[in-house]
Amino acid sequence: MTTTNETTQKLYGPYVGYTVRHCPDCGTDFISREDGARCPHCGGESLERDDARVCSHCGAIMQSGYVVDGGMAYYDTDDCRNQHITAAEWDERYDDDSDENYWTSWAE
Ligand SMILES: [Zn+2]
Ligand SMILES: [Zn+2]
Repeated sequence: MTTTNETTQKLYGPYVGYTVRHCPDCGTDFISREDGARCPHCGGESLERDDARVCSHCGAIMQSGYVVDGGMAYYDTDDCRNQHITAAEWDERYDDDSDENYWTSWAE
């Protein structure tokens, strides 16, 4: 059986749906798909960071990069993005005024 998750992972990358989480107790940043994920370092409760995203292709924590299809996927570099969307495809979809496909920075 093919789940939606497997389909979107094939389309966008293995780290689709991951968020960056922060442990206020020990300061560890980590990535997870679970909402209430515990800190892998100290086991404490973690919070989701809204100033960072996870690259859907390589799993890197990023504070700026590409938003694809309104946040279905994020890519930190052209290289990662090109694994899923060709440069020509991106040029067609990309628009500075678009709220679906664009480059942005979440850092303050
Ligand atoms: Zn911790
Ligand atoms: Zn990447």
